[in-house]
Amino acid sequence: MPIAPLPDEDVEFVLSARHWCTPVVARLTLVPLGERIDFVPGQYVLLQDEERQIPVRSYSVANAPREDGTLDVLVTAVPDGPTSTWLARGAAVGDRLLVSGPYGSFVADPAHKGPTLYLAGGSGLAPALSLIEAAVARGGTGDPSPARRHTLVFSGRTAADTIDHERLTRLAAEQPGLDYVRTLTRVAAGGAEAPLGRVPAILPSLVDDLTAHAVYVSGAPGFVDASTRAAQDLGAAPGRLHTEEFYAEPIPWHGD
Ligand SMILES: Cc1cc2nc3c(=O)[nH]c(=O)nc-3n(C[C@H](O)[C@H](O)[C@H](O)COP(=O)(O)OP(=O)(O)OC[C@H]3O[C@@H](n4cnc5c(N)ncnc54)[C@H](O)[C@@H]3O)c2cc1C
Repeated sequence: MPIAPLPDEDVEFVLSARHWCTPVVARLTLVPLGERIDFVPGQYVLLQDEERQIPVRSYSVANAPREDGTLDVLVTAVPDGPTSTWLARGAAVGDRLLVSGPYGSFVADPAHKGPTLYLAGGSGLAPALSLIEAAVARGGTGDPSPARRHTLVFSGRTAADTIDHERLTRLAAEQPGLDYVRTLTRVAAGGAEAPLGRVPAILPSLVDDLTAHAVYVSGAPGFVDASTRAAQDLGAAPGRLHTEEFYAEPIPWHGD
């Protein structure tokens, strides 16, 4: 496991772009004003407004490290959630915000030589995208052998809730060692392409044995719990099973 860089103090970034990937998930691009955040793929940062009026919350970086130091995050706009609403709808392009980090151990193990499975629900796709982009960049998705494959299973409610579907479909077509599977939970059979259903129900039809896999599960706590149990039932080894739960942090915040 790589040693993550030590978290930085708050660093100033500018919101340079916002793109709605789905009706409730926005991709924000953040540009460093000076200092950068030096992160390992899969890690998250803390975001806050410059005036420190909005509660600090965690957001996974949705890209592999870039030369220009820009960060993408995928923010699910939670109704009445102060920070997600501010990021998704309140902050204007050009606004400054405070970023600190990186944090977290949802990162690739360089010693792992077997296949890798990513199970991502909703904006839980963010850290999986970071890990997959990094795997593509180091040539890790060029080997078509089942012993080295990377498989991404994305779970959304309907086709409209799918993030980056065209991009991921294209990437999987280009990379012989990358599979991309989208599954939808709220579409009746016949209403969309299979597989349909929740990840725990469809996982055994996609893979029969996870004993050799590194498994990365990310998203809302219910999704992570159920998908983790399903992966364990298929033999995922505890030391190779990584989870990132997007729980709501109980951080009391009173402003300055
Ligand atoms: C390690 C880590 C990484 C995270 N990465 C991301 C990320 O990449 N993208 C992202 O969007 N969020 C991510 N989160 C969640 C994020 O930190 C916030 O918790 C979330 O944006 C809600 O914050 P809020 O201030 O808007 O609402 P809060 O005041 O925290 O919550 C308002 C209400 O909404 C509920 N709630 C919180 N989150 C959700 C949800 N997703 N769906 C439905 N109800 C919810 C809460 O239980 C509460 O009742 C991550 C959390 C952790 C711990």
